[in-house]
Amino acid sequence: MDLVRVALDVPLSRFFDYRLPVGESLSSDDIGRRVRVPFGSRSRIGIIVELPATTDASPEQLRPLEAILRDLPPLPADWFRLTRFCAAYYQAPLGEVMLSTLPKGLRRTDPPKARTPKRKATPPAAETPPALTEGQRAVLDTIVDPAADKPASAAPASDFAAYLLHGVTGSGKTEVYLRLIERALAAGRQALLLVPEINLTPQLEARVAARFPQAGLVSLHSELTEAARTRAFRAAFLGEARIVLGTRLAVFTPLPDLGLIVVDEEHDASFKQQDGLRYSARDVAVFRAHERGVPIVLGSATPSLESWANANAVFNPPGAKSAEARPGTRYTLLSLPARAVAGAVLPPLRCVDTRREKLQDGLSAALLAAIGERLARGEQSLVFLNRRGYAPVLSCTACGWVARCTRCTANLVLHLADRRLRCHHCGFEQRIPPACPSCGNQDILPFGRGTQRIEEVLSARFSEARIVRVDRDSAKSRKQWEALLERIHGGDADILVGTQMLAKGHDFPRLTLVGAIGADAALFAADWRAPERLFAQLLQVAGRAGRAGLPGEVLIQTEQPQHPLYQALARHDYPAFAAQQLAERAQAGFPPYAYQAMLRAEAPLMEEAIAFLSAARAWPEIASHTAVMCYDPVPMRLARRANYERAQLLVESSSRRALQAFLTPWREFVAATRVSSRLRWHLEVDPLEF
Ligand code: ADP
Ligand code: ZN
Ligand code: ZN
Repeated sequence: MDLVRVALDVPLSRFFDYRLPVGESLSSDDIGRRVRVPFGSRSRIGIIVELPATTDASPEQLRPLEAILRDLPPLPADWFRLTRFCAAYYQAPLGEVMLSTLPKGLRRTDPPKARTPKRKATPPAAETPPALTEGQRAVLDTIVDPAADKPASAAPASDFAAYLLHGVTGSGKTEVYLRLIERALAAGRQALLLVPEINLTPQLEARVAARFPQAGLVSLHSELTEAARTRAFRAAFLGEARIVLGTRLAVFTPLPDLGLIVVDEEHDASFKQQDGLRYSARDVAVFRAHERGVPIVLGSATPSLESWANANAVFNPPGAKSAEARPGTRYTLLSLPARAVAGAVLPPLRCVDTRREKLQDGLSAALLAAIGERLARGEQSLVFLNRRGYAPVLSCTACGWVARCTRCTANLVLHLADRRLRCHHCGFEQRIPPACPSCGNQDILPFGRGTQRIEEVLSARFSEARIVRVDRDSAKSRKQWEALLERIHGGDADILVGTQMLAKGHDFPRLTLVGAIGADAALFAADWRAPERLFAQLLQVAGRAGRAGLPGEVLIQTEQPQHPLYQALARHDYPAFAAQQLAERAQAGFPPYAYQAMLRAEAPLMEEAIAFLSAARAWPEIASHTAVMCYDPVPMRLARRANYERAQLLVESSSRRALQAFLTPWREFVAATRVSSRLRWHLEVDPLEF
């Protein structure tokens, strides 16, 4: 009998066997093909993983498959290795992992008719690249060149090497990527360029396309229509697209001629998927490069401390606890310490001590004066504040009532633009009450400041200025975001007020002043990764100032001007900051000096969530895993979200291998634990948030 073993998108760690219909035939070359199969009362799309000789399924159970889809070549062996690695490493069912990496259009049992897209106009001649700076040249000379002639006898089996490119903002990292892509293309290979956010793709897309008009560049991200994403995936898979630019999901695209992977802004948290398969696209990319034997470059002005430790032997002395590498291996450190454009220097950065100076509506006299100067000179200013909305608290002055979300342990944020109160955790919203719902007092007031309020304060102060606010409320869609960018680039903006959306990757030539407000909160946050994120954000946003020859300046309002984080920031000294943080992490036994996994549960009642985690902790074999530390279940900081009480249990080890050896059987035990239908749980490896 002809048997076909199929991976399906179901939360079970097993495959399913089917019969081949009469008249069809398959060979081992068809492994990796998509098929349509009956499952329960419905049809599903699956992937052939094996043509087994025997099956455990009884003849009655064994149903014939419905169709073999031949619209694409079978998924290749290296794609199987990649998805297998992810399933094992992230403790997720293999079928779920495999199917979730495909665009929706390829997972549908009723695929829409493919329409041929309009042909794009014939591309113009490629733009000529600038002469490299000395720093860029040195970096490029160090990186393996797959196109370089090698004597056949000496050709290495693998060109794998991992590089961490630490380049200050404006140092021309993008030009380095472009030259590496050029080499890969010249060697007949494809290049995969990963970026953290869709918002960053339009500008970069335009730059890459202008440089390589013939390379059939495609971009892959979650805002594409289903049809467009399927088309881009196909083009990459068939080798028609020689360059793939994408967000984290693009890391799984099958690429027959892959020759280079670049991960830009590698420190960015959005490389980590926060639901479903909770993977880090950066770490998966390193595994993939290693597995495919191709070089990978991780670039950032503020590398993640994990990558920095991997690239600096001093933080990983032989025999140190973290001697086991993350997926892949250690990195070569490359540096671009200066800005690329002649005359552009890093902006001086100064703390404004807000203990000494009375703030006017949250803004210091120094910052207001600096903005005034920019206005007089026709230059742009940016006020950075990582809090959207008008005010984070609405409260009654008489009885102390505070507007809280009924579904979360969180305050409602006041949005004055459309006169709503909104929960930033669950999306709940309501009208602003005319009086205190508790005591009837009419005097309910906003406390604290978000971007909308700062925008209001600035327009009262500088009535002649054109002010543009950029946050997730003003740039909800990509279209709105692009319109805002165009406005800013076109010079139709004097003052920008924005969240971290403005911090990354943008080049605003007339921007010469950056003011950061409200940053101190992160210094004392309970999350021990908060300082790392704060430093990265402030350095990135500071990097927007003075990029095009006009001198820039950065002012940070703080009550802690002597704090080591701000001191290192003022010197633009990422290595000093990283060294200090890594020393603290080593002392405390935090990552990268320990490996962690988090089991989280949520249920209508906290007792249920805790009971589930306690049952998981009561795993009889736990005692035999002596290298693994299993902590007590505790409520999460945001203990209630959208009417679910949430708790978590941390598992930790100084050995990656020991942790993995624990997690696999433990997860099976946990998955077999009886739970009420009201309880949801997941296991996250390498969690970023606590
Ligand atoms: P980064 O990504 O490191 O922040 P970019 O790649 O955006 O920096 O480069 C910053 C600026 O320097 C850009 O305007 C870019 O066009 C310019 N630039 C990069 N390399 C060169 C070069 N070799 N010569 C002249 N200008 C360059
Ligand atoms: Zn009241
Ligand atoms: Zn809520």
